[in-house]
This record gives sequence, C-alpha cells and structure tokens, in this order.
Amino acid sequence: MEAQIKLGRIFGVKIGLHYSWLIIALLVTLSLVGQFYVINPQWGPSVIWATAIITALLFFTTLLLHELSHAAVARSRGLPVRSITLFALGGVAQIEKEATDAKTEFWMGIVGPITSIVIGAVCLTLAWSLGWSPSTEPRTPPMAVLQWLGYMNIALAVFNMIPGFPLDGGRVLRAIVWWITGDPARSTRIAARVGQFIAFGFIIWGILRFFGGAGLGGLWLTLIGWFLLEAARASYAQVEISENLRGVKVSEVMANDWPVIDGRMNLQTFVDEHLLKTGQRCFVVEDEGRVSGLVTPHEVKTVERARWPQATVEEVMRPLRSLHTVVPQTSITKALEVMGREDLNQLPVVHDGRLKGIISRSHILRLLQTRAELQT
Ligand SMILES: [Zn+2]
Repeated sequence: MEAQIKLGRIFGVKIGLHYSWLIIALLVTLSLVGQFYVINPQWGPSVIWATAIITALLFFTTLLLHELSHAAVARSRGLPVRSITLFALGGVAQIEKEATDAKTEFWMGIVGPITSIVIGAVCLTLAWSLGWSPSTEPRTPPMAVLQWLGYMNIALAVFNMIPGFPLDGGRVLRAIVWWITGDPARSTRIAARVGQFIAFGFIIWGILRFFGGAGLGGLWLTLIGWFLLEAARASYAQVEISENLRGVKVSEVMANDWPVIDGRMNLQTFVDEHLLKTGQRCFVVEDEGRVSGLVTPHEVKTVERARWPQATVEEVMRPLRSLHTVVPQTSITKALEVMGREDLNQLPVVHDGRLKGIISRSHILRLLQTRAELQT
C-alpha cells in the first residue's frame, strides 16, 4: 500500500495517508455528527461539528500510535521500518524484513491491540472521571470525545485480533504455529489460510445480513471480507515466492547481455533510435569502452523535451559508482529486498568493479513463471 498523501516523519519513519482513509475520516465524522444530533441536539450545529471533527482527528492520532507501537517493537528487535500508511481499515507499518524468530513475530503482532486497548481504557477512565458512566449518554463534548475514542479504540483492538494473516491476530497466530512447528513458511501458510476462511465468513455474513434487510451494514461486512481475502492471498503469494526463490543466486538469473550505448549520444537519438525501437528499458552507458552508468526512461523524463537534441546521455545517466549494486553471489531474496527498499526496478551486478550483469524485477518474475509452469 503506497501512501498518496505524505505527512512527514516521526522518528525517521515516513508517515502517509492512502486516499481511502479520507473517505473513512468523512464517514466517521458524519456518523458522529448524526449521533450527536440524536443524543445532544441542544449543543447546536457548531459544537456538534467541532466535537465530531476533534474526535475523528484524535482517532487518527490513536491509530497512528497503534502503528508506531508495531514500528517500535520492530526497531527494538533490529528490523528497520520504512513507513507507516493509514488507509480505510487501519494502518500498515512497512517493515523491511520479516521477523527471524517466533517471539519477535508474537510481540510485533500483539503490541498493536495492546496499545489500542490501553488507549481505549485510558479514554473511558477519563470520561468516567468527568462524570460519564457506561449506562448514561455523555452530557458534555469532552465526555463525548473520550467515550467515542474509548469505544473506537477497543473496537480497533478487537478487529485486529481476528486471527487471520495479515491482521495483528494473524501475526500472533502465525507466531504461535511457528513456535509449535518451528517452520516459519508453514506457519504463514496456515495463518493465511485461516485468514481466507475468516474472510469468506465475513463475506457470507455480510451478504446474508444485506438480504436480511441490514442494507449498508451488510455491504460493509462484505467489503471488509473482500479486503481481508485479498490481503491473505497476497501474503500467501509472498511466502510462495520467497520459498521458490530460496537459495537462488543473482548470477543464475541475471542478464548477461545488455544494450550498450555511447555516453556522448544526445537524448533525442537515444529515444528515437534505441528506447522506442528496441523495447528495452535499461541501457548500459559506455565511455570509451568502459561502463560508466545506466540510463532508463526515468532519467530521460527529467529533461525537458525541447532540450533532448542538446543534452547527452552522460549528463542524465545514473553513474555506476552512485548506484546500488549487488555481487553475483547475492541471493535473489536479498536483491529483491534492496530493490524494494530503494524503489528500483533493476540492479547492476558488479564484481571487482566490473559490470557482470543486470538483474531486474521482470527477470525475476519471468523466472517464477517458468518455474511455476514446469512445477520445479
Ligand atoms: Zn496493528
């Protein structure tokens, strides 16, 4: 899940929003406004709207705290965290590496629901200290804010403890199976299967409720189920991929021949004669027989079209020394990790300062397809 709205960094972790979050923020605010109009109509429109918006914003903050707690545990166990993205059904912390032991996985999963439960309990206790009790409706706006934050955080914890991967509960289940069987790949398969099973349950339940007259509420459940199903399928596929690639070295699948162009060529010629004619995306730039860098359509796009006849490839290419490279012995899994982290589609394979090959995502995909076809 890529963030479309960037909010900045907390402790070096990129925080972002997915568009779907905005829809939810709006829905949360609107349903709170509706609630307040029913319970406390005497507050008047401006107080009601302000209370609803403040509640929604604070809920957003507590959701972020939930995700930051995952990130904090991951970090403390030596797993780098790249970003946190909030979307319709919560958030995801993008942790670069998978946990290497069951215990880490367990704590990384469970800390989120614990955080949400604690936040929920604190909010309800504060509301209670202001005179609110579970059997009464909140009388003042602060009471209402605290009550809703409390309920929503507890609901968040409960939802996240559904034992289907990739929800927190799924991680916890995975950790427990891992701990019992000692097999991380198998535990992911089991947790993903349970996740799919639960997802189907949500979909069927939602459809039944929809036809039973629950309307939007039923559709909402189906939507959650569909989302869970997709997520479970994706995490299942990811395990299959890394299982399939285990032990494969970069040197076994890298491209050994690559299109070469002269660095002094101008961009117009490069585009017309090479990029558009060969269908290749990554070119090796040579300067008097020595490899000096790589160039892809991405670099070309950084220059205005009008300047293409004057600018040379050398001016825009990515110099070899500035590139992330791998050695032939690197494992494919590691190479994919680097590409994921640096947001790259290809990596030069370098040995003793010389270019030995190029490895790209499409290369790895093709390898996976062939393997799947032949069932090796
Ligand atoms: Zn979580």
